[in-house]
Amino acid sequence: MKMLMKCLACNVYTMKKKCPSCDKETSSAHPPKYSFHDKYSSYRRKARFES
Ligand SMILES: [Zn+2]
Repeated sequence: MKMLMKCLACNVYTMKKKCPSCDKETSSAHPPKYSFHDKYSSYRRKARFES
């Protein structure tokens, strides 16, 4: 399954970890329910960026 990412600066969806237009790191475009596990998601997000 591919991970859908989103650039918060451009509001652009992409599959890449970096925005194709502004080259910033994208965030995973998950449903808002993930914010419930915020301390875990921030931990996972950090690990994901390093891989
Ligand atoms: Zn962007």
